[in-house]
Amino acid sequence: MTAQIIDGKALSKRLREGFRERVDHLADQGVQPGLAVILVGDNPASRVYVGNKVKACEECGVRSFHIALPVDTPQAEVLATIARLNADPAVHGILIQLPLPPHIEPRAVLEAISVHKDVDGFHLYNVGGLVVGNTIFPPCTPYGVQLLLDTTGTDVAGKNVVVVGASNIVGKPMALMLLQREATVTICHARTRDLAQHTILADILIVAAGKPGLIVPQMVKEGAIVIDVGINRLPDGKIVGDVDFDGVKEKASWITPVPGGVGPMTVTMLIENTLRSAERALRMRQADDFQEWEAPTLKNG
Ligand code: NAP
Repeated sequence: MTAQIIDGKALSKRLREGFRERVDHLADQGVQPGLAVILVGDNPASRVYVGNKVKACEECGVRSFHIALPVDTPQAEVLATIARLNADPAVHGILIQLPLPPHIEPRAVLEAISVHKDVDGFHLYNVGGLVVGNTIFPPCTPYGVQLLLDTTGTDVAGKNVVVVGASNIVGKPMALMLLQREATVTICHARTRDLAQHTILADILIVAAGKPGLIVPQMVKEGAIVIDVGINRLPDGKIVGDVDFDGVKEKASWITPVPGGVGPMTVTMLIENTLRSAERALRMRQADDFQEWEAPTLKNG
């Protein structure tokens, strides 16, 4: 069997085309969606990620606010910046690029973002929402994976899903999202003994470990769907995932390439969450307007 390719670039392009109509609709109501991206320090990889997000915003008609703070910015100043953005009605999404410099406590910063603008979905409120199956903003990478899975036409209910990697930003939310869809989910991590014993049972295998070549064909069930979240730069500069793509594609039914699989979807889902936030804010404003309009009638009555 040779796997069909799950084309994240193509899906991402289709989704972004659909965004145009929503941006136009918001513009008709006098709203331009806005995303603030805060970068503390000058980590080169982070600069590239932030640049990609800002560029994607421009392409989709979303206004971006790029806030670059020096590496020695005190935590209090970062929190004050977030407070200002929380109060700014032109900003519908706030993202703080991780990792942060060591003197800044990531949780303190993430919890300072308004839950109404937490488009990365990392605030504890949104994480809790994932646990009970009702989150405002699903975290972007797992959200993108979910849509990629949908393109295969597979109903995940009852399927054995194995997630390799248990980070707060990919593995854990991924597992929770698929549990919500009634999959039987196993999470593996660096301390898992005999990884292959788990992966071989997966109808759907999702790998987010950051270890090139971790998943080889012997670890994959014939006909499995394989989603490779990993992004690794080899010494020769080549970008690869965590899965031995050439080998595993001969066993899987569907597989994502790296690059061109999950990567493009992450930024697209960030824009999706920002649009959703702007639409929510507009609905809330209209509800307020309605109440203000109705209030005199009630008082007079
Ligand atoms: P992370 O925070 O480093 O977490 C890696 C996870 O993988 C940890 O849970 C770790 O286990 C587990 N792990 C490490 N080695 C393992 C092994 N040999 N066997 C089984 N599990 C192992 O990384 P992350 O932020 O989740 O990112 C994971 C990968 O996805 C990276 O390559 C990253 O670049 C990529 N990524 C891609 C996107 C995208 O848009 N495509 C977005 C985010 C991340 P422990 O918990 O036991 O340490």
